[in-house]
Amino acid sequence: MTNLAQLAADLDRTDRLRPFRQRFVLPEGIVYLDGNSLGAMPVAVARSMDTFLQHEWGERLIRGWNDGWWEMPTRLGDQIGRLIGANPGEALVCDNTTTNLYKLAWAVCTATAQRGPIVTDDQNFPSDLYILREVAERTGRELVIVPTDGLQTRMSDVEPLIGGASLLALSLVAFKSGALLDGSSWTRFAHEHGVPILWDLSHAVGVVPIAMADWRADFAVGCCYKHLHGGPGAPAFLSVRSDWIGRLRNPIPGWFGHADPFAMAHAYTPEPGIRRFLTGSSPIASLKALAAGVDLVEEAGVSAIRAKSERMTAFAVDAWTTELRPLGFELSSPASAHERGSHVTLGHPSALAISRRMTQRGVIPDFRPPNGLRLGFAPLYNSFADIVRGVEAIKEALSTHGDADEPLGPVT
Ligand SMILES: *Cc1c(COP(=O)(O)O)cnc(C)c1O
Repeated sequence: MTNLAQLAADLDRTDRLRPFRQRFVLPEGIVYLDGNSLGAMPVAVARSMDTFLQHEWGERLIRGWNDGWWEMPTRLGDQIGRLIGANPGEALVCDNTTTNLYKLAWAVCTATAQRGPIVTDDQNFPSDLYILREVAERTGRELVIVPTDGLQTRMSDVEPLIGGASLLALSLVAFKSGALLDGSSWTRFAHEHGVPILWDLSHAVGVVPIAMADWRADFAVGCCYKHLHGGPGAPAFLSVRSDWIGRLRNPIPGWFGHADPFAMAHAYTPEPGIRRFLTGSSPIASLKALAAGVDLVEEAGVSAIRAKSERMTAFAVDAWTTELRPLGFELSSPASAHERGSHVTLGHPSALAISRRMTQRGVIPDFRPPNGLRLGFAPLYNSFADIVRGVEAIKEALSTHGDADEPLGPVT
């Protein structure tokens, strides 16, 4: 363990992103390894909320809509668009990931002549599966959930099932295993089969390089409260390649997506651009909070974040090899850093009890059933020393826990 601590200290000393830790509110004595579920709060949020309350809502009242509120979904959309390599005008911030997935999947299924199934895999997020099934049923299609080894989806798994499909919907980084797919070759694979692709970028945006335009990827949705530090329930984003936009209908049309909202017309005419995917009023306070997080990611740069993230997951896997594998933990994530996002999942029969004990001692991981202890690394505020603390906490939790499973209460 001392070797590990020494190595962590060396890595932290040379870490160029280290100054960003001061830009987050992190409670004293807590080691936070769950930023992939809910990112920590940027310090700047308090200031921007205060400005919004005092000088915008408080002073400008309804005039605030003309002072910039109206453009926030597209302005933030373009900023997130830069993080995911989309062109200006292709990304929008609104609603939540689940709703945005519904909007896009329904829009594609009603716009395409293809009647084949919606194809996804068994590593995708449950909410995505619920939505995709609903869209399939409502549009007279089937949903095919491709079985995988639970670790890494292979093209050979999908190949037999993709012919004639209406849509391929996958997570770029799998929420359980942390497996990262090669966005470029998967997009090409879908297109070679004549199938549009929709990426869920929730666990990827802000920590993994994404090139929507270069890949020629059709659609994306993603979450802003994980590695974009947007706060609980932060509005999500969607992205549509420009040649698709004019062909797609919003299944939940509303006045914010109307071409001329203040004409107050009885008939709905969609806005020509990406704004057609808005429904009702944008949550301005939440967009203000999100902007602070997105600014930090843009300032640090995704390539620097990715470089540190790969070093962090590699460090964690090395620590697992020497410290935790001998104690019965399995690696439930891909073995190569290039094939992982920014979290590592360890399998252990007592993972739930271990995660609860760790949390009681101030080291916060999370648990994913059936037996996954998920350790998320946020390169902007986690240090390598945090990983060492995490490994120590796992060992302590295991030794106090013993072999017998304690009664399982609510996860704290
Ligand atoms: C976190 C996450 C979501 C979140 O969905 P919301 O509707 O925004 O709460 C969706 N999909 C994936 C893959 C996720 O990881």
